Amino acid sequence: MLLFTPGPTPVPQNVRNAMSAETMHHRTPEFEAIFEKTRKHLFNLFKTDEVVMIASSGTGAMEAAVINLCKNTLLSVNSGKFGERFGKIAIAHGLNNEEIKNEWNTPVSVEAIVKAVKANADIDAIAVQISESAGGLRHPVEEIAKAVKAINPKIMIIADGITAVGVESIDVTNIDCLIAGSQKALMLPPGLAILGLSNAAIETIGSGIGYYLNLASEIKKQRQNTTAYTAATTLTIGLLEVLESIEADGGIEKLYTDTATRANAVSSALKAIGLHIYPSTPASSMSTVDDENAAEIRNLLKTDFEVNVAGGQDHLKGKIFRINQMGLISNYEMAWVVNAVELCLAKLGRRTYDGTANKIFNEITFGMGK
Ligand SMILES: *Cc1c(COP(=O)(O)O)cnc(C)c1O
Repeated sequence: MLLFTPGPTPVPQNVRNAMSAETMHHRTPEFEAIFEKTRKHLFNLFKTDEVVMIASSGTGAMEAAVINLCKNTLLSVNSGKFGERFGKIAIAHGLNNEEIKNEWNTPVSVEAIVKAVKANADIDAIAVQISESAGGLRHPVEEIAKAVKAINPKIMIIADGITAVGVESIDVTNIDCLIAGSQKALMLPPGLAILGLSNAAIETIGSGIGYYLNLASEIKKQRQNTTAYTAATTLTIGLLEVLESIEADGGIEKLYTDTATRANAVSSALKAIGLHIYPSTPASSMSTVDDENAAEIRNLLKTDFEVNVAGGQDHLKGKIFRINQMGLISNYEMAWVVNAVELCLAKLGRRTYDGTANKIFNEITFGMGK
């Protein structure tokens, strides 16, 4: 079975092998050396002033960011489940939450953010997904961050990059906190989250807030290549292997180019067989199709063609399917997935099978078009 859900993503064999070594004690020079190397790679990936790893799923990092960087009112962008979560976190901690809500295929506009910030001087942090995984949408985060900093540079910009870090190049010039999670683009099992922080964020954090998610405690320790509490040793070893694999495969820029090409080849192939891409601004992390037969296609993909893709949640349940584009993905696997989708449409009697999806995918991927 091919796992093509936009999280969790498949863990490469060499990474699984690296994580099969005996459990290492976290307070040892051996582990500190691994931690130091991993940190170096992370600085290269995040391009932020500081990076911090915490043992939690991605949501733990979202919560850490909100409580450490927002003291009054959070402006949250809700174009899907994950954006909605930022608001819920703020409310759970007694912070004010102002929300800009859109349909899950619609990105927030820079104008709407600027208007909200100008209207409410209590807003001291903004939380937004770079790639909102609920509908596979790309928000204009860099433009938002730039516009907000021009109004008030003290407002903290929290960017959830859980399905963006490792997928595409992100301009962090005006971003204060960039979040990643292990089980999406980083091709690891769940349980590790990473925050990239700006110097302005570190200043705002001060002595930190909370206990386990107090970022000041972690920054202090991680600068010494250790962690405040027991490190997720096995996942850190896996992360180092992933980051070294990306280097060995030609580096992070090549991965970004490959991912963009693949996402384009897949969406072009799907459109060529009459399917519709759901978001108005698709992210490169996944290809999302809205279709009246979405549930049937997803079922057939699994039962007849050994491909596991994700569906939709809440009001999009049974209405969309989402195909992962994150990580080191083989072209031959991706070619099979688009071909399998075309076979599903033939089985449903919607079109005669003629290999169009595969043709378009291969033409774009291998530059055979013209
Ligand atoms: C998966 C995901 C999360 C939540 O991460 P968990 O690891 O499930 O806690 C947050 N934001 C985005 C954009 C995601 O895709």
